[in-house]
Amino acid sequence: MPPRHYTPDEFREHGHALVEWIATYLERLPDLPITPPTQPGDVRSSLPAHAPTEPEPFQALLEDLDDVVVPNLVHWQSPGWFAYFPANHSPVSVLAEFATAALGNQGMLWSTGPAATEIEAHVLDWLAELLDVPRSWRNDTGPGGGVIQMSASDSTHLVHVVARERAVAAGAATDDLVAYASTQAHSAAEQGARIAGIRHVRLVEVDDVQALRPRALAAAIADDVDAGLTPAIVTSAVGTTGTTAVDPVRIVGELAREHGLWHHVDAAYAGSAMICPEFREHHDGLDLVDSYSWNPHKWLLTNFDCSVLWVADRQPLIETMSIAPPYLRNAASDAGAVIDYRDWHVPLGRRFRALKLWWVLRAYGADGLRAMIREHVDLAHCLAQQVQAHDRLELVAPVPFALVCLAHRDGNDATDALATAINATGHSHVTPSDIDGRRFIRVSIGQAYTDRGHVARLWHVITEHA
Ligand code: PLP
Repeated sequence: MPPRHYTPDEFREHGHALVEWIATYLERLPDLPITPPTQPGDVRSSLPAHAPTEPEPFQALLEDLDDVVVPNLVHWQSPGWFAYFPANHSPVSVLAEFATAALGNQGMLWSTGPAATEIEAHVLDWLAELLDVPRSWRNDTGPGGGVIQMSASDSTHLVHVVARERAVAAGAATDDLVAYASTQAHSAAEQGARIAGIRHVRLVEVDDVQALRPRALAAAIADDVDAGLTPAIVTSAVGTTGTTAVDPVRIVGELAREHGLWHHVDAAYAGSAMICPEFREHHDGLDLVDSYSWNPHKWLLTNFDCSVLWVADRQPLIETMSIAPPYLRNAASDAGAVIDYRDWHVPLGRRFRALKLWWVLRAYGADGLRAMIREHVDLAHCLAQQVQAHDRLELVAPVPFALVCLAHRDGNDATDALATAINATGHSHVTPSDIDGRRFIRVSIGQAYTDRGHVARLWHVITEHA
């Protein structure tokens, strides 16, 4: 017997019920405790030991969202979410995700999803214009181009492999290659070197605002060249994970050009801010960059996963990744007339992730997105001023975007106790962190529904416990 699918009428009924459930969840979000009291194993022990043999009604599936999922989930979309970096979504991106699933397209090749491929290429060109990155990174002009990846880590891993291939093609031995980043770079840089088989990794010293010291980079490169090694790739951060420090992209780029390194920029979080011209000073030097990654799934209202990778020249990427088994060959690809995004990343299959980005850009407009970024940055600056004016608190880093890093003047234990008190409220959530043994609290303002009132409530808790 073939399986019984929902009839069109049943699908409509269940779809309405699900949308109703989502709308109610979003309304309830501000009142839900952000973290659950769940203990390891609690969720599994509440589930049946075996998969059901008989079909269950849709209502039962929906009820388990309330009974099993919501009480045991961390609610990242809560307006009191100030932890890590945001992974913000928006109602329109949720709807787009629903439509993407319904279309169920697998756009590995242009020929398997022309609309998916061309909308992705086009929307990334819109973004190239909105973020004012070099024109050569656009898909329509090239020689570079943009592609949506699952995560910024994927992009960082990938470009390490591309850099390895480029260096090896130029005559270097894989065992001699060296990758560089600062001590504050995201761990994906070190991981990317590992994945690419680059054995030598130099994490270069930072200055007092946690930005890479170019002199330290130059010295490390010189030492490696003297030792007979081959510098292959350097990663600059525009917005480090720890404190959103910005590395000197232009100077790193000049060093990279001088010594033949691939230069990758990791702007996973801060890239979204570049939609506002006032942050573009942090983009100085993009003409000396080979690849650039950033996450609309962090701070541009586009739900996870949606990470943009731009390359200044698509050829090294495609040469590294492209393999053409006979079953993937087709006239459009053979004619070289189209982008086949399967050649731009590790997996073959790919979802139509561009749809949600397209809808977000259209539903908010560039001005709407700029307004959100500016509001979050303004809230962060106000909070930073309050911290500075407080006699028992201090800022531990500048605030170039919307992350405030603060510490208790009484030391690490007091800082940790403050973080614990904030997170115990259930309505606000922050991340305790550490640089060189100094404990601090990261307050990252960037959720879609966060407003002045939520930050005021957080500040109230901070002052109560400081
Ligand atoms: N790079 C930076 C600077 C980050 O802050 C992060 C995550 O916070 C990443 C990379 C990794 O991002 P993803 O989760 O998309 O791999």
